[in-house]
Amino acid sequence: MDQLSQFNSGISILEMSYIIASILFILGLKMLSHPLTARRGNTLAAIGMGLAVIATILFHHKDGKPIGNVGFILFAIGIGSIIGWVIAKRVKMTAMPQLVSFFNGMGGAAAALISMMEFQHVSPELIAKSGMANGHVLAILLGLMIGTISWAGSMIAFGKLDGRIGDLRIKAMKYVNLTILAILIGFIVYIMTRHVQSSSELTYLIYIMFVIAAIYGVLFVMPIGGADMPVVISLLNSFTGVAAAMGGFLYNNQIMLTGGILVGSAGTILTILMCRAMNRSLLNVIIGVFGGGGKTNVEATGSVKEISISDAAVLLSYSKKVVIVPGYGLAVAQAQHICHELDKLLEEKGVEVKYAIHPVAGRMPGHMNVLLAEADVPYEQLIESEEINPDLPNTDVLVVIGANDVVNPAAEDDPSSPIYGMPIIKARDAKNIIVMKRGMGKGYAAIENMLFYNDKTRMLFGDAKSTLQNLVNEVKSL
Ligand code: NDP
Repeated sequence: MDQLSQFNSGISILEMSYIIASILFILGLKMLSHPLTARRGNTLAAIGMGLAVIATILFHHKDGKPIGNVGFILFAIGIGSIIGWVIAKRVKMTAMPQLVSFFNGMGGAAAALISMMEFQHVSPELIAKSGMANGHVLAILLGLMIGTISWAGSMIAFGKLDGRIGDLRIKAMKYVNLTILAILIGFIVYIMTRHVQSSSELTYLIYIMFVIAAIYGVLFVMPIGGADMPVVISLLNSFTGVAAAMGGFLYNNQIMLTGGILVGSAGTILTILMCRAMNRSLLNVIIGVFGGGGKTNVEATGSVKEISISDAAVLLSYSKKVVIVPGYGLAVAQAQHICHELDKLLEEKGVEVKYAIHPVAGRMPGHMNVLLAEADVPYEQLIESEEINPDLPNTDVLVVIGANDVVNPAAEDDPSSPIYGMPIIKARDAKNIIVMKRGMGKGYAAIENMLFYNDKTRMLFGDAKSTLQNLVNEVKSL
């Protein structure tokens, strides 16, 4: 095996496999940044991961011995793959964000478990040499803390996205969370400065740390509501990456390190972009306090005016510029294909149609891009909110399809609103507004939307898919 696993150049098959896997991860990540290449990117990264796992099982040696327990490992991989496959096959597109959050939590839990196991294996020689104060122990403790926070936080995020858990907002939460964070750091410092004979003397502290980190994970996600969940989800995602990278340090395993760093850094960049998109500060996200801090006190006033399908069809067909604002309801109704049919019909009639994409529309980052790409809407037609907003006063009709929070003017008008300060698509600037939704249901932030009572707004009630189908039929008949 040794001869087989060693090239003349001195690079082992294992190292070579890790380099190839790293390249596949990086290419995959790059391709994920565009809807047209995202699916292939995902496959490439999955192949990279498969290669890394197989190569590790076959060629990894510790102290000159092969990895061992291969039967158990393959059994665990088999069970995990079957469960993951079945869940992913069955999940509805609209429940995807919960699933992503759940899987992310599993990654955090795995990293925490690695730390808990490895702490007990810190070698007596290492302790004799440098006590507890060494990089190996630090990587274990950080992996435990960050992995546990990610696991507990992701489980709460899963519950919230699934509508099983509500918000819990207590005024002093900020201080409680900061205190718990300080205690966790205190634990790390304490453990690292202790002089002991063996790590087992301190193992009980590791379990206490695990419990405290889990409490922190729960408490920092519990108060987050309004429209701020996306930021937290991407932050938790980056936590899992960092925790996995700690595992890479521990095992001196390059591919685990590379994979963890890629997830950690991509997640961090996404978090920063999300913070910017939501006008929130990163520190407030980490300690779980942001948003306006309460329910809006705007009372719905004025009346809601409806529009008929035929009037909507006429209005749209004789417009010059139409902007469609897709939201979560479009995804629920799976109306993306029929929506694209409508935009093609209108364009054939000489109407310019664009889509206004808000960064947190839907229930996962990039949700609308993915949804519309699935329906083959050309990417050039999708315009980000910041870019399209200045153009809205010249827009004849703005059609909101199953969106609510992302067009809610309370973000600009009402300082007590939980979404106050979040940049929105300035729908009310358009000359006419048509809103398609089933009724007067609220959005994710559970607050009233005064756009629906605006003088320029006409409601087109019904499920987005059937309404769009009727509209398409009507436009065709004009
Ligand atoms: P919202 O959740 O604000 O509103 C969706 C609207 O769609 C509802 O008001 C509902 O009204 C309507 N709707 C539901 N089903 C249908 C249907 N079948 N046909 C027509 N309409 C329907 O959606 P937005 O996209 O505007 O905003 C996304 C929200 O989710 C933001 O608050 C965001 O922060 C949050 N979020 C986003 C995440 C992300 O990463 N993108 C992650 C987690 C949360 P009605 O019941 O009357 O039909």
